[in-house]
Amino acid sequence: MKKCNKCKESLDYSKFAKNRTKSDGYENYCKSCKNKYNKANYGSKYTKLYLKKAGYGIYKIENKVTREIYIGKGWINERKVDHFTKLKSQKHTNRYLQQSYNNTPPESLEFSVIEKCEPKLGSLKERHYIIEEYLNNSEKLLNQHVTLRW
Ligand SMILES: [Zn+2]
Repeated sequence: MKKCNKCKESLDYSKFAKNRTKSDGYENYCKSCKNKYNKANYGSKYTKLYLKKAGYGIYKIENKVTREIYIGKGWINERKVDHFTKLKSQKHTNRYLQQSYNNTPPESLEFSVIEKCEPKLGSLKERHYIIEEYLNNSEKLLNQHVTLRW
């Protein structure tokens, strides 16, 4: 038997998920509490699956009116939702992209995948595409502040 740190009930070990990083090899919260916790903190299982479904890679956000481009990396659906949520609420940390969004109708911004890749290759590939875009089209690249740090 093991006591759940959340609901404080003593339950059979089968009610706890295994976790090798814990001293006794089991989660501190029972499965039921852990599920509730995950749901509250990370959204539903469905949302999580959706966010990972498109995979990881390099993407661009292009303003179809001004031809400005922003390049990024990450879990594709997750990044897409995150960028547009922040742009809509005027909270995007890249002020060039935020300005681009504000200056044209919202539907002018198009999100597309450049290349899917393994997460460990993300930084390298992102840098490659940013440099390429910078050399070809520097005045339209919205990542300029990033480029200048290298
Ligand atoms: Zn519990």
